[in-house]
Amino acid sequence: MNDKAMSALNRGVKVLHDPIRNKGTAFTEADRKALHLTGLLPPRVHSPAEQEQRVLGNIRSKSTDLEKYLYLVALQDRNETLFYRVVMNNIQEMMPLIYTPTVGQACQEFQHIYRRPRGFYISANDRGNVKNVLQNWPHTDTKIIVITDGERILGLGDLGAQGMGIPIGKLSLYTACAGIHPTQCMPVMLDVGTNNDALLNDPLYNGIEQRRMRGKAYDDLLDEFIQAANEVFPGVLIQFEDFGNINAFSLLDKYRDKINCFNDDIQGTAAVVLSGIIGALRITGGKLSEQRLLFLGAGEAGIGTADTFVAALVEQGIPVKTARRQCFFYDTKGLLTSDREHIQHHKQRFARKVAPVESFLEAIETLKPTAILGLSGQPGSFSKEIIEAMGKINKRPIIFALSNPTSKAECTAEQAYKWTEGRAIFASGSPFDPVKLGNQTHVPGQGNNVYIFPGVGLGAIVSGARRVTDEMFLAAAHSLANQVLEEDLAAGNVYPPLGKIREVCATIAYEVAKIAWDKGLTDRERPQDLLAEIKAQMYQPVYPHYA
Ligand code: NAD
Repeated sequence: MNDKAMSALNRGVKVLHDPIRNKGTAFTEADRKALHLTGLLPPRVHSPAEQEQRVLGNIRSKSTDLEKYLYLVALQDRNETLFYRVVMNNIQEMMPLIYTPTVGQACQEFQHIYRRPRGFYISANDRGNVKNVLQNWPHTDTKIIVITDGERILGLGDLGAQGMGIPIGKLSLYTACAGIHPTQCMPVMLDVGTNNDALLNDPLYNGIEQRRMRGKAYDDLLDEFIQAANEVFPGVLIQFEDFGNINAFSLLDKYRDKINCFNDDIQGTAAVVLSGIIGALRITGGKLSEQRLLFLGAGEAGIGTADTFVAALVEQGIPVKTARRQCFFYDTKGLLTSDREHIQHHKQRFARKVAPVESFLEAIETLKPTAILGLSGQPGSFSKEIIEAMGKINKRPIIFALSNPTSKAECTAEQAYKWTEGRAIFASGSPFDPVKLGNQTHVPGQGNNVYIFPGVGLGAIVSGARRVTDEMFLAAAHSLANQVLEEDLAAGNVYPPLGKIREVCATIAYEVAKIAWDKGLTDRERPQDLLAEIKAQMYQPVYPHYA
């Protein structure tokens, strides 16, 4: 066989094993001839719809969610177009498998289920060499990086290098929901060690065997990564994900005005929760300025949400100090009062001059909040007494159990509805099924930042924004709230249905991109029809032609 024939053969086999270009049994007769694939595939050509049917049959026949997850990961590794077709056409069913809650279990068991590499690892051992290492990434058009150091994976704590499942899952959602092309997405695990002894003692653990790097060495590695990423992929958007709060706030403060970045746990969560509150007020008829928020948990998500809530009130002309007075925090040390000793920097602005209380229940009884927001990772912490107390104070109490995964939710949907005789306006971070009480079916909303980050990222990428600003997240929150339909609100759901997520993301992207142009954050020329341009750029899972 001559060289030319050999290279034609190789090309075909390479296409077959390249998940981005592979079509599996959907290679047409003409494709097969052109790529010399005849004989390498079963002879019958299937349509993408038939392939999807086969995949769904396989998924639905698996008995556990983790098996379904593994099946989907394997599909993504061999045929991304089909993977995204299946995910996008069945988003309600697939989202809990590729994202929370199943992704949490996948991270916990990563050392046992590991099969093929996906995403990119940078470890403490790469110090001084990060730029060279980054150049091993096979795609040059990277537009977005989601990076974690695995210290606070969902509400599951420090999972070290096993946290890689999170950036992979988030970026799959960037593609499925916001249409960022899969080759433009780069999941990164910054492996700086772990303080999880069980993992360190496990011979199958695949991260570096050391305790977490802290202090200057950590900061220097982060700095090196940020600089190298911007050199290798100029202007890349970096999303910080599931960092411990010991680093999350300081990283955001350090980089937000220097590079194109945001922290999803602080800013993304904030926007989705604010949107949920605005949605709830469309049900109750209340005003944002009248809301008293009591947070369980004063970490990244809680403080970020309170800051964004305050920003929304400031937008309405209310002074910052007055707005902050509407927010109360209860954490591991009890109610956050100004006489507490050693208050961490990010909490100080919310420390309040109020009398101490003995419990979260007492905090509810004395502060009379209109909403309780669970961002603590403590399952069951919204007890019957707590929910009943909210029901006594409020006609329609807002109860958001936002901790992930489902096993960490502060209460279940059923508990919230049952203990308030169906009056609660409930949302949760991970999905709960609708609850039937008497004649009414209550549909819990999923207050998850998946409604926000893909659209914000898309808007920033399409506009070429140099920065992602708080104003963009506020606009995203308003945009999301405006997209909730009356019929969803009637069923108690304060978020749009997941089936509309592509539309939701495109509309959020439009609002974000508009700010980029209005505030001079981009040098790109503004398209005549921005929304049409955004939609046109969104990836569709359609096979290429080879013949
Ligand atoms: P974090 O570690 O920054 O903060 C956790 C907070 O909870 C801390 O203030 C801690 O003091 C408090 N806490 C812990 N145990 C407590 C207890 N027994 N009583 C009272 N407070 C307690 O974490 P985070 O980033 O703020 O995330 C917290 C939770 O929110 C996680 O479970 C995470 O999955 C969830 N979250 C959900 C979304 C979403 O989209 N729904 C987004 C981000 C985070």
